[in-house]
Amino acid sequence: MRKLLILLIPSFIFARILIQGAMPIEIDTLVNAMNDKKVVKIGSYIFYEGKIKGRDIVVSRTLIGLVNASAATTLGITYFKPDIIINQGTAGAIVEGLKLGDIVVGDRIYNANSYKTPKSLYTINPLAKEPMIAPLTLLDTNNEDLKNEYFTSDETLVNKFISLAPKGVLKVNIASADAFNKEILMLHLWNKTYNASVEEMESVAAAQVAKAFNVPFLAIRIVSDNLIEDIDYTPSIAIKLQELLIKIIDKF
Ligand code: SAH
Repeated sequence: MRKLLILLIPSFIFARILIQGAMPIEIDTLVNAMNDKKVVKIGSYIFYEGKIKGRDIVVSRTLIGLVNASAATTLGITYFKPDIIINQGTAGAIVEGLKLGDIVVGDRIYNANSYKTPKSLYTINPLAKEPMIAPLTLLDTNNEDLKNEYFTSDETLVNKFISLAPKGVLKVNIASADAFNKEILMLHLWNKTYNASVEEMESVAAAQVAKAFNVPFLAIRIVSDNLIEDIDYTPSIAIKLQELLIKIIDKF
């Protein structure tokens, strides 16, 4: 028993957290809070290895979009072997009621890039688009298809974050795509198709790769715009979410 404890304690104490953000404004506050910093650049992807409040942290600038996020997540997992991945940053609200600075966690995370349509020669009909599963398919341990309609945040991490954050954090569905969508009808369609409350451009890719490697994953976003309520894109709000993470990261 004692041997087991001695074996378990270091892996608990030294649990590494990979914190991702797409743009400098979404990571700089975290990077500035790090001690014993080491910068590692692999291809286009920059990682900052160090400590925040004694915790072993790797901050990753994923760059924008699904392809960049999946590459950065694969590299982050392979090189730094994190125990937890937090994908964080800004998101645009696509429903009424979400205000600038509101914080949401990803419950179901959908790839709004992934769809099929019926054959049609002369019409373009967004309502005919159906979510497509094939690009979200992974392999299970028996090399059988592991089909996913969506990805999720790890329930334990969601509950932990909600218990540590100020009141008001909402669990919502996220629609992720390589798109900054301001067409209100399209936003309504994403809301209807995925029951999504926010749109952004990375978390589904990070979530899919995290699942492929079995790493517990958490998507957290701060609302930077609400296109339904005419709240303009204010990326600097990303700093508030990083300040919150710095405050609570040692209790994770
Ligand atoms: N500054 C860039 C845009 C960045 S893309 C330009 O003007 O070209 C937006 C980034 O913020 C993405 O990383 C995405 O994840 C997030 N984001 C915030 N609000 C968004 C919205 N309404 N739609 C899509 N992505 C949004």
